Amino acid sequence: MKTPNWNKASDGLLPVIVQDATTSKVLMLGYMNEEAFTLSRKQNRVTFYSRSKQRLWTKGESSNNFLDIEEIRLDCDQDAILIKAHAHGPTCHRGEISCFDDDNSNSQAFTVYDLEKTIHQRIDEKIEGSYTYSLVQKGINKVAQKVGEEAVETVIDAINGKEEDFIYEAGDLMYHYLVLLKAKGYSLKDIENELAKRHKK
Ligand code: AMP
Ligand code: ZN
Ligand code: ZN
Ligand code: ZN
Repeated sequence: MKTPNWNKASDGLLPVIVQDATTSKVLMLGYMNEEAFTLSRKQNRVTFYSRSKQRLWTKGESSNNFLDIEEIRLDCDQDAILIKAHAHGPTCHRGEISCFDDDNSNSQAFTVYDLEKTIHQRIDEKIEGSYTYSLVQKGINKVAQKVGEEAVETVIDAINGKEEDFIYEAGDLMYHYLVLLKAKGYSLKDIENELAKRHKK
């Protein structure tokens, strides 16, 4: 791997962007000097140089919300560092996932519409390797059958299952239901229109 160009550092520090290795969400920005960089690579865990503490700071040293390094990248001219990491917990000391989440707008907001958008994108753009697209390619019978299976699992866990299993299966059902709507050429909007008609009565 190329090494950072420490000659370009100001006060010996280069900026470091930490990104969640799974979600690609930007978690935080910090700074490293050469010592922090070397230590981070050795321990496979992010250690910054803290400008306020004026010392090496292993993120998570008191909270245990460590950042395990999956990949380190440098930018085009080696004066900025990108780290893809797995976070043990919320990265921001306010308890938010990311330092760029503000506490009033729900950082984890992920609506059914967001899910629908993703599903439609996978299918419309024929994304190879996407579970959604491969399921739809198997035909309407298969998609409908999956909805049936997930509905049965949801019902079983509603009556007899652990709470967490019920929520899990209800999520499966919601996802497959949206895939079925799309496979039939519909979207949530069509269902809303149908329900609105009934609502007026
Ligand atoms: P931690 O490294 O998570 O054990 O946190 C130790 C201390 O570092 C906290 O009490 C905060 O003062 C500070 N800190 C933790 N996380 C962040 C962050 N993401 N950005 C800025 N300061 C932080
Ligand atoms: Zn640069
Ligand atoms: Zn923060
Ligand atoms: Zn399921």
